Amino acid sequence: MNKLEEELNRLAGSENVRVNEPMASHCTFRAGGPAAYFVTADTRDALTALVRFLESSGEKYFILGNGSNILVSDKGYDGVMIRLGKAFEDISRDGGRLIAGSAAPLVRVSVYASDCGLSGLEFASGIPGTIGGAVYMNAGAYGGEIKQILEYADILYHKDGHSFVQRKSAEELDLSYRHSSLKEYAGTVLEASFVLKEDDKALIKQRMDELKIKRQEKQPLEYGSAGSTFKRPEGYFAGKLIEDSGLRGASCGDACVSEKHCGFIVNKGKASASEIYRLMCEVQEKVRADHGVSLEPEVILLGNFAD
Ligand SMILES: Cc1cc2nc3c(=O)[nH]c(=O)nc-3n(C[C@H](O)[C@H](O)[C@H](O)COP(=O)(O)OP(=O)(O)OC[C@H]3O[C@@H](n4cnc5c(N)ncnc54)[C@H](O)[C@@H]3O)c2cc1C
Repeated sequence: MNKLEEELNRLAGSENVRVNEPMASHCTFRAGGPAAYFVTADTRDALTALVRFLESSGEKYFILGNGSNILVSDKGYDGVMIRLGKAFEDISRDGGRLIAGSAAPLVRVSVYASDCGLSGLEFASGIPGTIGGAVYMNAGAYGGEIKQILEYADILYHKDGHSFVQRKSAEELDLSYRHSSLKEYAGTVLEASFVLKEDDKALIKQRMDELKIKRQEKQPLEYGSAGSTFKRPEGYFAGKLIEDSGLRGASCGDACVSEKHCGFIVNKGKASASEIYRLMCEVQEKVRADHGVSLEPEVILLGNFAD
């Protein structure tokens, strides 16, 4: 066992440290190679100690949510993947506020809000991410986004050898379309508070059910994917550009431009991360050539994709 593994075992507990963990089991794309180390942080103290150690020793690390917006290279991730454990999944209500731990699944949080008669999270009820991932991405759908309801998020930062927690508003986090300041100033979301509106429980549930049906009708939920592969370019829809380029159903191995929704690249079976990546590049090239528009991936690429 090397020094890094020893230290991870000491800080997180050996039962929480896995070596060469296949990331295909932790990503909704169901593809990708192993993470050199896969560590579950059981408590805030363990997370803080891990981040402090990894930052000060210059080791590479990544905070994983539900893996619903990442693609890990087949060669894997040669750093420490940190997953937040059960202690980060609490959800509670305080009047019109809902406070949720960063590892709480959005789906569960929106159902909790609905059961409390609190409206505002309906848009999130079909997004398969966690609160942490949703704040990081400013997740949104059907006209709603995290920015509209986020009161604050508590963020663990590390700077100049010190770890500290800061409470940041949506404005301070500079939330905009699929963007937060966490992309530039790395920090770990610990929990978030949302301000919601009281409403009739049955009406909230009805809105959630309607959005669920829309998703099922429009999106290829039967296959692995990371949702929309590309961001919406200003003035266009990525799916429409891809469709107009004749790429509906285009494939590379088991990676395929969804027949149902051209904005999704799906894994129809055993697609490798390289096949998914190659198809992404082909789509970008064709759309650029046909329409002069650059498609920027929404999905976050991790590891080395060079041949
Ligand atoms: C079928 C399907 C449908 C989707 N529909 C939508 C949709 O309608 N709208 C939408 O916006 N997205 C959608 N997505 C994409 C995805 O679900 C969102 O981007 C989601 O917010 C990602 O959350 P996650 O927990 O899975 O994050 P991950 O994919 O695990 O990580 C994404 C990023 O968030 C960071 N992150 C995760 N947790 C934390 C934390 N605690 N602190 C700091 N950073 C963190 C990671 O480091 C990474 O950079 C869809 C995906 C799928 C598969």
